[in-house]
Amino acid sequence: MFSVVIKPLVVNMTILFSLIFNANLFSPFRRKMALTWKQKMMYGVVASFTALLCMMYPIQPLVKTNFDFRMIVILVTTLYIGKTAGLLCTFTVVIARFIIGGPFAYAGATVSVFAYVVGILFRSSFFHVKRKMLYGLMIVFIYLILYIATIMYAVPPLSWRFYIVYFSFFIAMFLALIYVIERLIQFNEQFDDMIYLDKLATVSEMAASFAHEIRNPLTTVRGFVQFLSKDTTDENVKKFAPIILEELDRTNKIISEYLTLAKPASFQLQRVSIDDILYTSVHLLSPLGTMTNVSLHLYTEGKSDVYGDSHYLKQALLNVMKNGIEAIEHGGVVTIHKTVDEKEKEVIITIRDTGKGMTKDELKNIGLPYYTTKSKGTGLGSMIASRIIRQMGGTMAYESRLNEGTTVTITLPLYEGD
Ligand code: ADP
Ligand code: MG
Repeated sequence: MFSVVIKPLVVNMTILFSLIFNANLFSPFRRKMALTWKQKMMYGVVASFTALLCMMYPIQPLVKTNFDFRMIVILVTTLYIGKTAGLLCTFTVVIARFIIGGPFAYAGATVSVFAYVVGILFRSSFFHVKRKMLYGLMIVFIYLILYIATIMYAVPPLSWRFYIVYFSFFIAMFLALIYVIERLIQFNEQFDDMIYLDKLATVSEMAASFAHEIRNPLTTVRGFVQFLSKDTTDENVKKFAPIILEELDRTNKIISEYLTLAKPASFQLQRVSIDDILYTSVHLLSPLGTMTNVSLHLYTEGKSDVYGDSHYLKQALLNVMKNGIEAIEHGGVVTIHKTVDEKEKEVIITIRDTGKGMTKDELKNIGLPYYTTKSKGTGLGSMIASRIIRQMGGTMAYESRLNEGTTVTITLPLYEGD
């Protein structure tokens, strides 16, 4: 039993774990993987290679049957990477299985294709579900039903002891891989956050030192331009002074926004009423809305206290709402909804506009410093907002459809004291 079953099983397991680490090396696992064609192919090739390795060490309780874990490779690749990589892997496996040949080649190929089909069917729901292990268990059970049905039909029955060992390892291995990948995703994302925050810190430090230095001479220049333009007869000065002043004001605005970035997170985290903050923010922005024919609607539901800093929180919300108003060109609505998720202990705020929306590429750029599509934008608003929310232990996510509008979802930790 040992050399026939356990040994190849252990070899198969080792091969599978090495797949995960190799794949993660080529391009690290992330929750949302926007892969290029080349990367998809790369994953496909790594997966195919792993599956072939598995097939080289089959468990053969009956000469000419090839039990191994290549189906796990196909399942995991299709679930996590996608259709293309999964297909490449399945294709390689099927061809290899026919080359190996024998009376059970058809059955072997069929179960591989089933793995691909199950992967495709559950791919998107698996992505959204929170309890991946539990869902994974269900997926593997569904797959095993297909698998067992196929071999019952095509392969002479083997000892039940073999089946028990093989299928328990199969399930355990599949779940172990999901666990490892999930951990890697978590780790990679923490690492991304760290780099992001680190970059921000550098930007902030630089900003702090420059901003003050630049502001003082600017104020002087502004004063002189104003003075010169007051009672001059020079047509040119008259004509261009307002433009100079406007540009100087813009520069000043950029510096002010920059300075908020520069201020280290000296947050006063305390109990704040999010309803109050939302109400004041909407109140503050209403005039701007009226000017561009945009109405703001605020709906609040559930508890209202969060753990945060009211000043910064207001700034973050204002930035996001302002973007919503600015995205609307010919009149529209910005709807702000606040609800509470008691289970997750968080407050959820959605800010939805009926504006021009964003393309996928634009969505990717949002939040990057200086990314703006507005002639007078600074490209700092979203970045500041997202930074503030993150530092308060919350999250901020964008969803957008071109010409339909954008929804920004912000979560913040619910205040739980007393
Ligand atoms: P700014 O508003 O100064 O341009 P932001 O960082 O606030 O800088 O926003 C960056 C860019 O993101 C905007 O120029 C705009 O193109 C896009 N954007 C942000 N919010 C929205 C929205 N609600 N609808 C459409 N585009 C948006
Ligand atoms: Mg903005």
